[in-house]
Formats: sequence, C-alpha cells, structure tokens
Amino acid sequence: MEHGDELKKVAQEVAVCSKCELHFSRKLAVPGDGPADTPIMFIGEGPGFHENEQGKPFVGAAGKFLDELLGKIGMKRQEVFITNVVKCRPPGNRDPLPQELAACSEYLERQIQAINPKVIVTLGRYSMAHFLPNAKISEVHGQGMKVKGRLIVAMYHPAAALHQQSLRPTIEADFAHLPELIAQSGQLPEHEEPAPIGKKEPKQLSFF
Ligand code: URA
Ligand code: SF4
Repeated sequence: MEHGDELKKVAQEVAVCSKCELHFSRKLAVPGDGPADTPIMFIGEGPGFHENEQGKPFVGAAGKFLDELLGKIGMKRQEVFITNVVKCRPPGNRDPLPQELAACSEYLERQIQAINPKVIVTLGRYSMAHFLPNAKISEVHGQGMKVKGRLIVAMYHPAAALHQQSLRPTIEADFAHLPELIAQSGQLPEHEEPAPIGKKEPKQLSFF
C-alpha cells in the first residue's frame, strides 16, 4: 500500500471513530495534515475550539504562532506533517485522559509508520510522553534524542508559550536550534530511558 493511502485510511477511520469518550463531544475529528513523504512530523496535544470546527490541526492562535516559528527556520507548514496525540477535542480543552491517549495512540503509530519521518518534534507534555514517558519537559525541551532510530525533539506547547510569556523566548530559541539538531542527528547515540523509580533491575545471579 502507498504511504499516502494508509494516511487516508487512518483519516477515514478517525473521522468516524468512537473508541473513546471524546467522540461524543467532537464536531469534527482532526486526523492531521501534511505530505506523506515528509521527513518531519510535529505532534501536538489535541484539537482546540477552531480545530474541532474545521477538522484541521493548529488553525487557531497556537497554530498561527507555530507557523511563525516554522517560518523563522525556513520551514513551511505544507512541507511537514502536523497531528496530535488525540484526534478529537477534549471538552473545554482539558488535558486528555490516559484512556483517551491509549485509545488514540494506534492512529498516531500508524501515521508514524506510514510517514517514517527522520525527525519528530513533540509539542507539549502529552506528546513528549508518547516517546519519552519518564522525561520532564523543563529538563529536556529543545534537546535531540534518538528513539528507535528517529530524532525526537521535545518542545514546549506553542499555546503554553502564548499563555506564559516567560516561555516564549525559550520556545523561540529551541525552534531556532532545530536545523542544527537535525544536521547533527546522525551522531546521536540511541536514547535509553532510565528505569522507572521503584522498579529495580533484576539482581545479577552470583555464583561466588
Ligand atoms: N493545540 C494542539 O495541541 N493541537 C492543535 O491542533 C491545536 C492546538
Ligand atoms: Fe477515536 Fe481518538 Fe477520537 Fe478517541 S480521540 S474517538 S480514539 S479518534
């Protein structure tokens, strides 16, 4: 199957999906947008008010800011694939719940498999946690990490930077650094998640 065909199939399934509670309150599901052969994916959290109305990702204020951030590093939104960890709007823009993230992750994984991007930029904590479940955004934002052979770069969510002015220079600096990170990503070692606290490594058997 062509990669674009699989993306279309995912979009068709998402449009009528009822795998989690978010389908009750959505107007339009937002599968994501962009070319199938792009090397870069941006993954946000979930549709907001305008996205839910239009069925397109990042078309509100956060989207405008994202366009600006992309523009400053010479990228156009039509050149990258943009989606979210949940494809339907959480009511009142609340955080997505664990069961919603779990139900929707199949679609995101299929999109990643179909596009096979070299670089994934996560926008916000929930998107970061899909790839780096133990990471803290305040510690890893703007850094590149190799996960399953891809460069993962965690960024603050553009909406967070709009609401919290102090984050704005940080996200701008992190975006400005992105082309350099991508250029150097060949040399990065595979990232290993630290073992979750409280889960000790099995003890090595000793014969002495
Ligand atoms: N915020 C997101 O996380 N995703 C969108 O699509 C729009 C705003
Ligand atoms: Fe289906 Fe995802 Fe929408 Fe839930 S958020 S109804 S899993 S498409």
